[in-house]
Amino acid sequence: MPSEPQPGSVTRFAPSPTGLLHLGHAHSALFARRMGARCLLRIEDIDATRCRPEYTQALIEDLTWLGLDWEAPPRVQSRHLPEYRATLDALRGRGLLYPCFCTRGDIAGAIAAQHGAPTQIYPGTCRGLPPGQAQARIAAGDAYALRLDVARALAETGPLAFTDLLRGPRRCTPEAQGDVVLARKDVPVSYHLCVTHDDALQGVTLVTRGEDLLEATNIHRLLQALMGWPEPLYAHHPLILGADGRRLAKRDRAPTLRALREAGATPGEVRARAFVSPPGTNSWTLPARTD
Ligand code: GLU
Repeated sequence: MPSEPQPGSVTRFAPSPTGLLHLGHAHSALFARRMGARCLLRIEDIDATRCRPEYTQALIEDLTWLGLDWEAPPRVQSRHLPEYRATLDALRGRGLLYPCFCTRGDIAGAIAAQHGAPTQIYPGTCRGLPPGQAQARIAAGDAYALRLDVARALAETGPLAFTDLLRGPRRCTPEAQGDVVLARKDVPVSYHLCVTHDDALQGVTLVTRGEDLLEATNIHRLLQALMGWPEPLYAHHPLILGADGRRLAKRDRAPTLRALREAGATPGEVRARAFVSPPGTNSWTLPARTD
C-alpha cells in the first residue's frame, strides 16, 4: 500500500521557516514520519529574504509539542553554503550553467514578444550571449542569476523517470519548466540545488512532500543524474485544503499549530485534524503510527 511505512526507508520533513507551521505542515511532517523507518528534519532557510531564525525556533517547538521526533540534529541549510556553491561550480565548470542578467520585466517582455502559443517559461534570452560579453557584464558588476541549460543537461543524461509511490512511474519532463534558476541574484543557491544535494548527502531514500512540488521533481531528477547522486523514491501527498477548497497557506492566515494550541487543542486533536482531509477534497486519510 502506498501510504504504508516503507521498510528501511529514510524520509525527511524539510520546512522553510518563513512563518509559523499550519495544519498542512503538520500533515506533511506526520506523513514523513509515518512513511520512514528513519525520519530526518531539515531546515530549508537559504532564502534570507523570507526566512527568520525565530520561525526555525518556533517550528522545532511546535513539532516537539505535536509529539514528532526526528534524528537529531536537524540540518540547517544556511550553515552549508560552501557545499552548495561547490556543486554550482562543478555544474558551471561543465558548461551546464549560464549567467542570466534579465530582470523580471525583461523576461515578461521577451515572453510577450514570442510568436505562437504563449508560454510562461524563460525564453532563453541569455543562453546565447557570447562568453566575452557575459564576462564583461559580470566584471562591470551587473547582477546575474545562474540558469541550468536544460537541453544541454538532458543531452548528457538522456531520458529520465522517477517512481512516485502514490502515482506509479512517471517520465521526467524538466524541459517544460525551461532553464530554471539554480542561483538567484539575491539568494546564492536555489531550492532545487540544495534539496537534491541534501537528500543525497543525508541518504534520504524516500522523498515525501506535498503534490505542489511534483513538477519540481523533474528538475531534481535531472540534477541527481548530472551529479551522479542516487535516485530516491517519491511520495507526493495530496494537500490539505481549507474550507474554501484552496490549499492552506501562511498568507491566508491558515490556522497555525500555535493558534490551535493556544485555543486549547491537545497534540492528539491536532494530529487527528492534520491526518484527515476535509470531505470531498482528498481521497485518503493517514492512519496514525503506533510506535
Ligand atoms: N522547503 C520546502 C517547502 O517548505 C519543501 C522542500 C521539500 O520537501 O522538498 O516548501
